Amino acid sequence: MVSGLLEGTQDLVVLSDPAGNVVLCNRAATEFFGRDLEGEPDRSELGEVASALLESLRQGGPSRWSGDVGLTAPDGELTTVSVEAVVHEDDSGEPDFTSVVARDISERVEQHRRLERQASRDPLTDLPNRATLFERISEASAAIGSDPDQHLALLFIDLDRFKVINDALGHSVGDQLLRAISRRVRTAVRPGDVVSRFGGDEFVVLCEGVESIDAATAVASRVESTLQAPFRVEGHDIHVGVSIGIAVAREPADAEEILRNADTAMYRAKSDGRGQWVLFDEELRRSTAERQETLSALRTTRHGDALELHYQPIVQLDTMAVVGVEALLRWERDGVLVTPDSFMQVAEETGLISSIGAWVIEEAMARLAVLRERPGCGHLRMSVNVSARQVADPGFTATVQSALASSGVSPHSVAMEVTETALLDDAVVAAAVLESLRAIGLAVAIDDFGTGYSSLTYLHTLPVDVVKLDRSFVVGAASDERRRAIVEAVIGLTATLGLATVAEGVETLEELDMLRELGCGFAQGNFIKPACTVEQLESFLDEGLSAERS
Ligand code: C2E
Ligand code: MG
Ligand code: MG
Repeated sequence: MVSGLLEGTQDLVVLSDPAGNVVLCNRAATEFFGRDLEGEPDRSELGEVASALLESLRQGGPSRWSGDVGLTAPDGELTTVSVEAVVHEDDSGEPDFTSVVARDISERVEQHRRLERQASRDPLTDLPNRATLFERISEASAAIGSDPDQHLALLFIDLDRFKVINDALGHSVGDQLLRAISRRVRTAVRPGDVVSRFGGDEFVVLCEGVESIDAATAVASRVESTLQAPFRVEGHDIHVGVSIGIAVAREPADAEEILRNADTAMYRAKSDGRGQWVLFDEELRRSTAERQETLSALRTTRHGDALELHYQPIVQLDTMAVVGVEALLRWERDGVLVTPDSFMQVAEETGLISSIGAWVIEEAMARLAVLRERPGCGHLRMSVNVSARQVADPGFTATVQSALASSGVSPHSVAMEVTETALLDDAVVAAAVLESLRAIGLAVAIDDFGTGYSSLTYLHTLPVDVVKLDRSFVVGAASDERRRAIVEAVIGLTATLGLATVAEGVETLEELDMLRELGCGFAQGNFIKPACTVEQLESFLDEGLSAERS
């Protein structure tokens, strides 16, 4: 019966005497080893287990052992087996024979590995996933040792405008592209470096033992150049740009913090114009903290209390009559009045601009209604700056209409100024919204004309009534032939298109005269009147009126 049991089982059973010679090798074991081992020593891993157990028993150890062992077949293939080994003693307590029973568990092990792999890998690219990355950063950070020349570098890589590719060519192309990119990035780094997929179009590279900051930035440059050649996917040649943020840790730090720093640097790379790498350094740490402070101060600000509008008159050049004013936002922060340069970007990026902008529109229109009541001011127009983000906001048109309704001013007396650089990202949406505003009578002005990438494109793709010639073209144009020629060309172009030109930032009499000579219709600037409070504006309007009368 016992022999039936031994021969019938799938388990490998090998019995050996205390000298190590096999006394029984069952059918399964004979098949596995390719022959019956009876009479010879078992030189396999099972034999090693048996003799080790026997030896340990002689030293006073236990007589039984179980555990998983890698077992090499005669053809060299490795099988994982679960082993149960026992030293059996005779009546006098001496070792009689050793039994080793081994069960093939390689399938279970393989399945376990598969599951583990699934949990730790990104299925699309087969790169380590975010969770694995965190673990690896933590380990690497903890291992930063006493050697001051061995840093840890983290590269946060974000593809530029991947969404556009995905939307235009489809997800299948997008997926293949991500795979191809992950392959190229892996070739750009050392074999020991970890390349992981962090999110949709984000990859993070972890490099240990980086000797210097330069070595870290060199990795970023290599990644950039390896991605430079176009990717060919389903017949499309796709050019990929990346923005890379680099954080270098010289001493153990929180994985989360290192990642956040690299992410912050990546954002800076993006906002500085994409397609480049930026290193997280002291300067960036400081500006990030400042930005954070600005944001929380701006969030808690009560618009009516802390925000204020200043106004800059716009004059018609042939008569020097004030025809309108531009509303310019000011924020009273810690008792100091600050200009939009210090907070507008934060407001736009965080969406705070929507509520701030709504306040500006309400306030400006209410002010216009009051100003128009003044003698000789019934014709005044109001220009309001709006950011592209605001224009793209679904509630924007309603905000404008409600401000018109509550102030009672005519839409024909209001212009919206949009900067062309800001329009770039949302041009299609913006164009539609601006068109609908024009339909109800508002004028649309392109602000800072000439400073963006595609000024001329906007002239024919966007609904525009007014072009505001950027200050940079006006400065020095009176004494510089080439600048003067550019100003002249823009004025001629806008006139041909039937648009009005407002020159910005006029600071000298010479500039004013030159603009008038070149046929520019309107101007504003410190020479005429700097942006000022409502009270100052009112006095300025009164002066103009009395000058006219005398
Ligand atoms: P902008 O619309 O081009 O406004 C003209 C800027 O030039 C104003 O700066 C004005 O004070 C300044 N300026 C006027 N004349 C001169 C001059 O002769 N010389 C010099 N050097 N500068 C002159 P400000 O008020 O600091 O506004 C900066 C920018 O912030 C504005 O540029 C506009 O793009 C934005 N902004 C202002 N108010 C708002 C607002 O309510 N909403 C939005 N979205 N943006 C605003
Ligand atoms: Mg403006
Ligand atoms: Mg401007």
